[in-house]
Amino acid sequence: MLAEEAILIGHLNCDEFAMGSSNENSAYGNVLNARDTSRVPGGSSGGSAVAVQAGLCMVSLGSDTGGSVRQPADFCGILGLKPTYGRVSRYGLIAYASSFDQIGIFGHTVRDVALLLEVIAGEDDYDSTVKKSAGEPAGPMWKENPGRKYRIAYFTEALDHPGLDPEIRSAILQRTNEWREEGHTVEAIDFELLDYIVPAYYVLTTAEASSNLARFDGVRYGYRAKEPDLELTEFYKRTRSEGFGKEVKRRILLGTFVLSAGYYDAYFTKAQQVRQLLVERTNLIFKDFDIIILPTAPSTAWRIGEKMDDPIAMYLADIYTVYANLTGIPGISLPLFGHTNGMPFGIQAMTSRFNEVSLLQFSHQMMQQ
Ligand code: GLN
Repeated sequence: MLAEEAILIGHLNCDEFAMGSSNENSAYGNVLNARDTSRVPGGSSGGSAVAVQAGLCMVSLGSDTGGSVRQPADFCGILGLKPTYGRVSRYGLIAYASSFDQIGIFGHTVRDVALLLEVIAGEDDYDSTVKKSAGEPAGPMWKENPGRKYRIAYFTEALDHPGLDPEIRSAILQRTNEWREEGHTVEAIDFELLDYIVPAYYVLTTAEASSNLARFDGVRYGYRAKEPDLELTEFYKRTRSEGFGKEVKRRILLGTFVLSAGYYDAYFTKAQQVRQLLVERTNLIFKDFDIIILPTAPSTAWRIGEKMDDPIAMYLADIYTVYANLTGIPGISLPLFGHTNGMPFGIQAMTSRFNEVSLLQFSHQMMQQ
């Protein structure tokens, strides 16, 4: 970005280690949603979303391990793109769950998002997942293709989910009817794996996080407890008790548990099998369709504090976004709607891996209406 003369104006607030869906797990306090300051901006990259929402900058970056760019974009009424896993180098990003993490982009227009993606995409000696050979070469991400007719699928189970706000459901269904009238194909397809997505995500990401965060020992890396004369084990305990917040500790414990000898097969292996099934099913879907659409989130931005006592409720709100990270496909949240409660919400579109050019073309077309 600097090589392209970008003007960088600041760091932005994030849930601690990017773990959260509301920005409330930040060690620095929580960002407020600029549309309604009694509500959360979404998370984890809530600061990046509000900076664009409130006009402090044109575009911003965040990290998306399970929705942390798309969901705050949805809550703030802006665009949020998570590129394909392997499109953008993760060098410089603090690892949360390495096989899920990807840098994402917030913006107001598809063109801005495409331009920034073009600048940051591509090979990097410091991240072996970003290879020239993977997918199409990084090149122009903005190629207009007006008037293309798309084959679009959505998951029946996703739109019939009891946790989905009925107003979000009807707005999306109504929009798909309009797309049909314009000549696109839109079909509901069965996706019986939906209920396994959130559990698989939280087993795999906590396992990876427990391993990634092991380096924060206070000896060679990370925060260090102040007391000088502690015995070594006590020093580790003190360092890690003081250095991590409640949610991060919960995830390290959960991740260590699912990786422990007695439970490895029951949880970690099982979740990997679910991930593999999701990838296979998704590849099949993209044989017949160009685009999958889903809601971005089951509700609009909730009130500050509302879900802080119930981590499971917070995790379940990630149901529609973690799918793209489990399968590595790119996803974008398009800010198309307003709710009667005064908050914005979007629709999420996804394509097969390394197909961002089509995803951005589709997004641009749908944003024009
Ligand atoms: N809300 C999800 C989580 O807490 C996603 C976070 C992210 O994408 N960094 O893991």
